[in-house]
Amino acid sequence: MQFKDVVGQQEIKQLLLKMAGSGRIAHAMLFLGQTGSGTLPLAVAFAQYLNCENPLADDSCGQCTSCRQYEQLAHPDLHFVVPVNSTDEVKKPRTDDFIAQWRQSFTANPYLTLNDWYQAIGIEKKQGIIAAEESAGITHKLFLKSFTGRYKILIMWHAEKMNAATSNKLLKIIEEPPDDSVFILTTDRYDGILPTILSRTQMVKVPIPDTETLVNFLKTEKNIEVNHARSMARLAGNDISETLQLLRNDNRQEQPEQVFLSWLRMCWNISKDYKKLYSWVEEMARLSRDEQRNFLVFGISTARECLIANLAGPQHARYNEQTFAGFERFSKMITPQNIESFSKTLQEGAFHIERNANAKILFLDLSFRMHHILRM
Ligand SMILES: [Zn+2]
Repeated sequence: MQFKDVVGQQEIKQLLLKMAGSGRIAHAMLFLGQTGSGTLPLAVAFAQYLNCENPLADDSCGQCTSCRQYEQLAHPDLHFVVPVNSTDEVKKPRTDDFIAQWRQSFTANPYLTLNDWYQAIGIEKKQGIIAAEESAGITHKLFLKSFTGRYKILIMWHAEKMNAATSNKLLKIIEEPPDDSVFILTTDRYDGILPTILSRTQMVKVPIPDTETLVNFLKTEKNIEVNHARSMARLAGNDISETLQLLRNDNRQEQPEQVFLSWLRMCWNISKDYKKLYSWVEEMARLSRDEQRNFLVFGISTARECLIANLAGPQHARYNEQTFAGFERFSKMITPQNIESFSKTLQEGAFHIERNANAKILFLDLSFRMHHILRM
């Protein structure tokens, strides 16, 4: 996550860059602001900047080994503590037990909310907490020598989820911080943090972006028409997480043809944009089993119409002209050579969905298989 990927927040970015430039980094910082203002993306972008091997004046380079590891949240000196709870598989939960899901969730949507996160790990009916068990891990990681000789950074997301025991243990660590360690706590609730911790952290207040910033982001990054973008921003109270949620709902109302077509485009260009694919997979996983199955069944019949169009001419195919603008171009992708594997793959997908397969794994796997079929 580079600064350029964080929506707005120019003043905060300047402040952080200045801090990094001076070399006087506070050992413990608190990013205070609602989730949808971007406290988490800012924390990650700042951490990436601090560990970048060739930092530019206004951003990390995005190219060096460190930056590339940061893009996957897999840098050896970057650590996370986030609220979790027990699941069927994990009885004594710590962040590390969910680190793969955390990386995937953040990569798909850096503006994720607590609810998004709870859903991702299946604890939406409970409350996540940051339990005292985390502190042993924190101490262990931060007192180790840094892997790269730079900063060891720990980002604690939603620090207000610490209970009293955790807060006290964290306080002890912050009072005598390990060399070259940086704690970044993020929270949306000032009163949820122990005053003794507050007094030892440097606070950075992160405001909600203004409407124009958000409209500009929606226009340039999400291709949303300005008036629609403005009403969306208004509806979401300029909260970026909320806006992105509205956008997802919007997209879901897209015609099935378009959803299907844009998926195939993604499969065709799979290596160009993994992030886009991951967020699409996340979205599909949120749908009900029926909707997921219908999507694939619809794909099978679409493929058949495509083949007819391809062999006998588009006038013989049944499709909705108004909504399926890309049909003719798309139909050329389906040939007598690939129709069988195409339909069989989708059929198998539908079969596994009915038998409760893990939707994320299934749609990811399907996407790669589609790529091979289309490119064959
Ligand atoms: Zn770099």
